[in-house]
Amino acid sequence: MSSTLALIFIGVAVLFILGMKFLSSPKTARYGNLVAAGGMLVAFLATFWLLQWSEEHKQLNLILMVVGILIGLALGALGAYSVKMTAMPQMVAAFNGLGGGSAALVASLDFLHHVQHAENVAVSAAVPMLFATLIGSLSFSGSIIAYLKLEGKFEKPHTFPGQNFLNGLVLLVILGLCGWLTFNASNGNSATAFIVMFALALAFGVAMVMPIGGADMPVVISLLNSFTGLAVAGDGFVIHNNAMIVGGTLVGSSGTLLTLLMCKAMNRPVTNVLFGAFGSGGGGQAAATGVAGTVKPIQADEAALLLVYAQRVVIVPGYGMAVAQAQHQVRELSDELGKRGVEVQFAIHPVAGRMPGHMNVLLAEANVPYDQLQEMEAINPSMDRVDVCLVIGANDVVNPAAREEKTSPIYGMPIIEADHAKTVIVMKRSMAKGFAGIENHLFYKDNTRMLFGDAKASLNALIAAVKAN
Ligand code: NAP
Repeated sequence: MSSTLALIFIGVAVLFILGMKFLSSPKTARYGNLVAAGGMLVAFLATFWLLQWSEEHKQLNLILMVVGILIGLALGALGAYSVKMTAMPQMVAAFNGLGGGSAALVASLDFLHHVQHAENVAVSAAVPMLFATLIGSLSFSGSIIAYLKLEGKFEKPHTFPGQNFLNGLVLLVILGLCGWLTFNASNGNSATAFIVMFALALAFGVAMVMPIGGADMPVVISLLNSFTGLAVAGDGFVIHNNAMIVGGTLVGSSGTLLTLLMCKAMNRPVTNVLFGAFGSGGGGQAAATGVAGTVKPIQADEAALLLVYAQRVVIVPGYGMAVAQAQHQVRELSDELGKRGVEVQFAIHPVAGRMPGHMNVLLAEANVPYDQLQEMEAINPSMDRVDVCLVIGANDVVNPAAREEKTSPIYGMPIIEADHAKTVIVMKRSMAKGFAGIENHLFYKDNTRMLFGDAKASLNALIAAVKAN
């Protein structure tokens, strides 16, 4: 690689890192996205420079690449414009799977090229090739299953006795084949061994994700995302592309950190997510009997009075706000209250919604000022000085069982202490459970009122009632 190209790739690495740095604040996140995308464009153009064209099929190769790029651009742009915010995890799963599959193909073709010519491969080259093939292919098949689960297909955990043992055995066979192939690329049986290893890696991706409940897919996708990153970094070593090594490593490490942060915010170890079949009973069921307290409904007019006469209101958005696409109504209500001298803040739980930053993105889309957004740790100490806490489509992230009930599956999960407010108004359609599939005792507390209905419709009614006051 020329020194100019090496310098360009260092510049690309700086752009990737700056992009990620900017992504850490809602104020600079859009800019960060552009900076990182700019880095990717430069890396992409510089990679053309690296290409060694063989005269034989030069024109055909060029046409194929241009067609591939145009199809990719069209699909990417179409997906980005048309996908709903609530379907974003599916989109990430699909893109991640394609990335993993591509990384596996790049490494496989290189390895099979050596096999075809009965050449031995140096251990230092064989290891990244086999690593990228293995990790990339299991990330591909695992992401497809994650995508399907998020789409509601075989959502429940699929488990059977001895499953972990069987999966462990398959993994051992895969690793054994990789070990053998590392030293025997020129062997007559290496093509067969490679294909068996590839097929088993694909099957392992499926077997790894099938036992996990659909509700845990965001964590799984984040983990698979880190796998794809590592596979791309492996490819970078194979085809001597520094931008891929740096970019892949950044994706690998940030995906791992995100996985750990999500698990920490749910107070669940990664092993519980991967092997716990958690959340399989979530959503949809009616309330169970035997919960102390009564449910006290409230109408929009009465709720509006409580809000208008409050000094401090805290809004807790959750998954239901995303489903109802009610972020613009939330902003309008907040503005109307602000005009009447009410202090309005938004309490953001790290795993509210179905992906990290879900609520921040939706509220930013509705132009809610960033300084009104408060992290859970920042707002909790002052929740007892809140007059009205308006919970909009949030459930698990405000469930006091996480603090009070040692036997609860969410015990220990940090929550927004909505129940500490003087009055709590919960907006949801029914008494159905949230993601974790458990009762929420907040709904039965003395200071809680339930405003039943679709969040958007209820907010419209609230706004009209506030304006009338
Ligand atoms: P949640 O516990 O899933 O509850 C959402 C609530 O929204 C439901 O109880 C539902 O009740 C209500 N809802 C749905 N559609 C609605 C509509 N159109 N209008 C009004 N309400 C509606 O949500 P959450 O409190 O945001 O908690 C997120 C959960 O996801 C946590 O358990 C978290 O651990 C998990 N999770 C999050 C992430 C992440 O990255 N964010 C990752 C993995 C897991 P009704 O059906 O009665 O309306």
